[in-house]
Amino acid sequence: MKFFCIQCRADREIENVSEFRTKHNRRMAKGNCPVCGLELFRSLDATMGEAEKNNAQS
Ligand SMILES: [Zn+2]
Repeated sequence: MKFFCIQCRADREIENVSEFRTKHNRRMAKGNCPVCGLELFRSLDATMGEAEKNNAQS
């Protein structure tokens, strides 16, 4: 799964991803950057990319 590492400022392919739910019942994925070790998070919701869709529509 690809994560964007804000420390490396690069996309990183992360293998050991763990999924969890936030208290708002959102699905999230968590993993560590293989290069710098920073903990990275991303949303797994179907609404992922909603902001981009909204931008495309407007
Ligand atoms: Zn990194």
